[in-house]
Amino acid sequence: MIESESAAESSNNTNTTISISDKLESITLITLPCSLCREEITCTARDLKPMTLHLEEKHSQRLCPICSMLFDATLPGHDNYFQMHVENHFDVPNYPSPTAPTAMYP
Ligand SMILES: [Zn+2]
Ligand SMILES: [Zn+2]
Repeated sequence: MIESESAAESSNNTNTTISISDKLESITLITLPCSLCREEITCTARDLKPMTLHLEEKHSQRLCPICSMLFDATLPGHDNYFQMHVENHFDVPNYPSPTAPTAMYP
């Protein structure tokens, strides 16, 4: 019994090591210079939140997470404008696909 238990433990350890190295590979750190003050911001390839926060805190600019467009948060009505802009990215109009057969039936 003891032997089989230790064997299971060692195989578990191997699995853990593999999954950790997989995770490390997916978290790639990248350094992006701020387009306004040239300060270098460290982000991960998947998450540009540090840059977004920097722009908001230091420059009162908001970065569209989809198209990376900058919005001046000091302008009146900015909140509505920014929200509308972001929502537009998700607002996919239901245009009929050009490849859809529209005249199938006589
Ligand atoms: Zn900056
Ligand atoms: Zn956008």
